[in-house]
Amino acid sequence: MRIDIVTIFPEFFSVLDVSLLGKARSGGLLDLHVHDLRSWTTDRHRTVDDTPYGGGAGMVMKPEPWALALDELLRPDGSSTLVVPTPAGTPFKQSIARTLADEPHLVFACGRYEGIDARVFEWAASRCSVVELSLGDYVLNGGEVAAMAMIEAVGRLVPGVVGNPESLVEESHEDGLLEYPSYTKPASWRGLDVPDVLLSGHHARVGAWRHEQQLERTRRVRPDLLPDA
Ligand code: SAM
Repeated sequence: MRIDIVTIFPEFFSVLDVSLLGKARSGGLLDLHVHDLRSWTTDRHRTVDDTPYGGGAGMVMKPEPWALALDELLRPDGSSTLVVPTPAGTPFKQSIARTLADEPHLVFACGRYEGIDARVFEWAASRCSVVELSLGDYVLNGGEVAAMAMIEAVGRLVPGVVGNPESLVEESHEDGLLEYPSYTKPASWRGLDVPDVLLSGHHARVGAWRHEQQLERTRRVRPDLLPDA
């Protein structure tokens, strides 16, 4: 999979060289490229923003540098997907991460200020699919942190990135429920014991206990998930 990221802060993405994504990148499983939006500006000050039409506080990102960037980065055959992190987008979920992990080419457009001129996405929609995604119901300063989270969630689903594919199956949100609690050695620690059933070696009982724990935790912490689970 190829991923291009366009931002005015390329340095945010130095973490892409760390841990599993870093390995996937150096091993050629993920072809990640970070671009500075300002390299597509044409004025001496490398301007990327201007005042909003209609008035109001803050600045808006100008359309032309984005269009020049996308002219260069989007594939001419329409197979690219433009991902736009925005608090006004569809909530990003595991099911969306799965869909994006099947795409051959993602381009992340990281907004700043009050966001990007809306015509950019209208124009881009005639050349590729465009998805506007929110990381959650809060406002960040820019799209970089949201893009990073989405790239990590998508990247770990690309075959080969996580060594043992089974570890991707029994996770929170994969079957619509939250994950059961996990424990490791020692069996007794600071007066707290691992539940007996996990020491029993009885796979069916362990499975039933874990499912019950998933239901209990989901009911308690995220009852909104239950109708879909
Ligand atoms: N004026 C925008 C609004 O109210 O919808 C918020 C702009 S925010 C200060 C600047 C940029 O941060 C956005 O363009 C977007 O790229 C990013 N951003 C902020 N919150 C986000 C969230 N919850 N999910 C994804 N991206 C977010």
